[in-house]
Amino acid sequence: MKKIAYIIAIMVGVLGACTENEMTGAELKSASLLSVAADGSTSVKLTQLNAVLAGEETELSEEELAGLIWMREEEKLAGDLYQAFYGLYDWRIFGNISRSESTHVAAVLRLFDLFGIEDSTPDEVGVFANADIQKLYEDLKTSGEVSLVEALKVGAYVEELDILDLEERLEATSNADIQLVYENLLRGSRNHLRAFTRVLAQNDVYYQPLLLSDDYFNEIVEGAMERGSQNGNCALGYGYANRNGNNNRAQYNSEDCEGNPQNGVGGQQKRYRGGN
Ligand code: MN
Ligand code: MN
Repeated sequence: MKKIAYIIAIMVGVLGACTENEMTGAELKSASLLSVAADGSTSVKLTQLNAVLAGEETELSEEELAGLIWMREEEKLAGDLYQAFYGLYDWRIFGNISRSESTHVAAVLRLFDLFGIEDSTPDEVGVFANADIQKLYEDLKTSGEVSLVEALKVGAYVEELDILDLEERLEATSNADIQLVYENLLRGSRNHLRAFTRVLAQNDVYYQPLLLSDDYFNEIVEGAMERGSQNGNCALGYGYANRNGNNNRAQYNSEDCEGNPQNGVGGQQKRYRGGN
């Protein structure tokens, strides 16, 4: 109980440190663009994102354009699936993460606005412009309808997929605004992977990665929740009980947050790519 009170005190301290409305331009530049809830659901703060996008006139490559259009629908896929599972099982984690995913979609759509990209994705839940994503949605929804545990596994799988796709798109762009959005969506996906695997572990189900290498997966789920910022990486103290029953609770150190190697893998994504 003491530890829980300690964590809550830290969270209140971190989240209450300054209100967004009072921030100066310089503070906004270094502030976290993410809001991380107790269950790990990670939303993008859209007002702050708007304030820091550089909006440089630039011609996007075909690859960058295709990447944005793909990620827009992949973020919708995650949100729509979790919304469907929330309706089916009434578990809050699905409702909370689904709402976070809608901020991820909105963040990508800010980039659409910035670069004048037309959005051809229907608003309707579970409907996509891309036939491959449509098929993926239907397959994953069918899998998750089997049971709550299967739905949580689908959640972890979707986050694995997001991580690989975002890393691939990140490598294919040098545009600062796209990088900023992708890096924060990546932090969100790593937090969501931690969230789904933690709930599975609480139910004695130890998720085995299907896309990421074992090493990379373990590195992520044993790391602390990432609060994120533009210039560094800042984590909230969360533990994940691994399959041996050890509790790898990471210590959160508010004075030595940014650049602290304890704080997850955010600054070192390329070292831990899947397939190692
Ligand atoms: Mn997402
Ligand atoms: Mn996610």
